Amino acid sequence: METIEKINQLQKKLQKLKNQGKTIGFVPTMGYLHPGHLSLMELAREENDIVVISIFVNPTQFGPSEDYKKYPRDMGRDSKLAKEAGVNYIFHPPNEEIYGKDHRTYVNVEGLDSIMCGKFRPGHFRGVCTVVLKLFNIVSPTRAYFGKKDYQQLVIIKKMAKDLNLDIDIIGGNIVREKDNLALSSRNKYLSTEERKNATVLYESLKLAENLIKEGKTAGRVEKEAITYLNSNKYVKKVDYFDIREKDNLKKVRGIPSREVLAAAAIWVGNTRLIDNIIVKR
Ligand code: AMP
Repeated sequence: METIEKINQLQKKLQKLKNQGKTIGFVPTMGYLHPGHLSLMELAREENDIVVISIFVNPTQFGPSEDYKKYPRDMGRDSKLAKEAGVNYIFHPPNEEIYGKDHRTYVNVEGLDSIMCGKFRPGHFRGVCTVVLKLFNIVSPTRAYFGKKDYQQLVIIKKMAKDLNLDIDIIGGNIVREKDNLALSSRNKYLSTEERKNATVLYESLKLAENLIKEGKTAGRVEKEAITYLNSNKYVKKVDYFDIREKDNLKKVRGIPSREVLAAAAIWVGNTRLIDNIIVKR
């Protein structure tokens, strides 16, 4: 495994491999790797000849009051885990390699970027799409892997790939959870012991929604009951949203869900923002 910081160096190496007809699986990450990231690398390992990951904490996807500076970073540990997962190349660029001094070009997936998390994190998906498209152009992968944990992100990247005619297969990997069902996240490390215990309320609210949907309740009623459940936990500082949406285009579901739908939520446990979702069959 090699760690590369320069775009042209990575491109030289990958071009050689592509000329030999090798397929490339790419997993973009912000590092501080956990088994959720590793499961995407394993998928990429199974389906491609070469696995490339990026570790880049992307400044343009953080709001001014968000945790860009304190986002956890540990390259030593990440390198070891990536190597064990069979990664061939880690692309780990410094900021200035990705964003030149006069960077002015951004990618918006209109509409999808202003609902759910986008409503509470203005500019977030613009930053995500911009960096992901740049990374796609740098790596030119055959396939790229994203976790369903960030479900809205996955839908948005798929839409960007379709709208901009990218010749890359976008593949979603299942959510990896702790034993008590909390979805793994680099941000879980911010939680205090008590907050961590109570963070399971998020998954519980999704399962509650699933039960209510199976009972035939309307989407609006389900959302209300799930929000009430979340707010009854004193460690939940705020519920940003709890939404029942179409799983492919993220349109709001009205009335009683008749197909498979997405239940997705974002909450604050203390000062930590957590997201999670499940797909619910009626
Ligand atoms: P991040 O480093 O948080 O930007 O995440 C990098 C990739 O890993 C994204 O595609 C995430 O959706 C995915 N990911 C993060 N947490 C999980 C998880 N618990 N299960 C599956 N994929 C995940």
